[in-house]
Amino acid sequence: MTHHDPEFQFCPVCGNRLDSLKLKTNEPRRPVCPSCNFVLYLDPKVVACSILEMDSKIVLLRRGINPQKGKWVMPGGYVDRGEEVKAAAIRETEEECGVTTRIDMLLGAYSYSGQVPVVIVYVTQYVSGDLISGDETLEAKLFSEKQIPWANLAFQSTVDALKDYYTSKNKGGKSPTDGDKTPKD
Ligand SMILES: [Zn+2]
Repeated sequence: MTHHDPEFQFCPVCGNRLDSLKLKTNEPRRPVCPSCNFVLYLDPKVVACSILEMDSKIVLLRRGINPQKGKWVMPGGYVDRGEEVKAAAIRETEEECGVTTRIDMLLGAYSYSGQVPVVIVYVTQYVSGDLISGDETLEAKLFSEKQIPWANLAFQSTVDALKDYYTSKNKGGKSPTDGDKTPKD
């Protein structure tokens, strides 16, 4: 029997073909090695993202790679094993758009049933550097709330995080750079 994830077919310990077994009734089927009993636990992947505020706008990057090539996303990427999530957000932001930042606050964690990534989003502040587009990015641009390309955002987490960000900001929630708070209506 092949298991549910075609990415992993062989036991990483002994090389035998993996089976798919339900080890506990309340858990999903897991890849298990019938030869050495190794259980392959398929964990989520943690992604750290940054809503980077600059000049009363935020930075979005247009993806130069798949998935979702050509769509807009916040700076971010996978957290390495053993790496602090905040450090990953700062590192990925610098790699992708050339800017050094500091963490201002945690915005939220975004995950979806059946999907592998758990996306942790921080609001970050510009510290230094010029905005550039890194290797995996077609362009890096500043957007005001009105300019956000809602129909061309890359992922559900991008949409949900930006909605949460502006909801909080427009409620008068913490909005760090806010020197020009415009009264509503
Ligand atoms: Zn094995």
